[in-house]
Amino acid sequence: IRLDNVNLTELTIGSAKAFRNAYGKEIRVNGQPEVFGYSDESKLKQLLFIFLDNAQKYSDDDIVVEVGALSDDRFIRIIDRGIGIAKDKLPYVFDRFYRVDEARTRQAGGAGLGLSLAVEIAEAIGVRIELDSVEGEGTTAELWIPEGNVIMRDSHRILI
Ligand code: ATP
Repeated sequence: IRLDNVNLTELTIGSAKAFRNAYGKEIRVNGQPEVFGYSDESKLKQLLFIFLDNAQKYSDDDIVVEVGALSDDRFIRIIDRGIGIAKDKLPYVFDRFYRVDEARTRQAGGAGLGLSLAVEIAEAIGVRIELDSVEGEGTTAELWIPEGNVIMRDSHRILI
């Protein structure tokens, strides 16, 4: 883990562009121009890609990504208007190998590992994940990057 003062807006735009080129899927990025946060840039990118990948797999419409700050915390929000996840299935989607049993999900392929990996990465870099979904309407994933990052404090304490 390597913590840096990361320009989250730039990282989000860069990831969105890479994603757009790779998948030919339209992505809009909205938000504040210069949001900085302490994080591990490459791990945060991996995290973002997992959620972008799901957004494109489970929706046909454009994906919207928002980046911003609320008081001292920073957020990256990935919004799709796709098939969504039923309320009773939502608690399980972070479990390893869990996939919602639905024709569209099976058709999209995948092992059910993306979100369990996301949890591990998020824990390693002190990011909080919030997932909200309405079946048939879409899904919103929020990645919260706290200002008082615990990992940042720890890394300051170990001096030698
Ligand atoms: P992979 O291992 O390739 O990531 P996966 O997409 O099935 O495969 P997860 O990313 O762990 O695995 O997601 C678990 C399940 O949660 C998915 O199978 C799908 O049913 C549901 N899901 C996740 N993201 C979304 C989304 N944005 N919209 C609708 N359903 C979703």
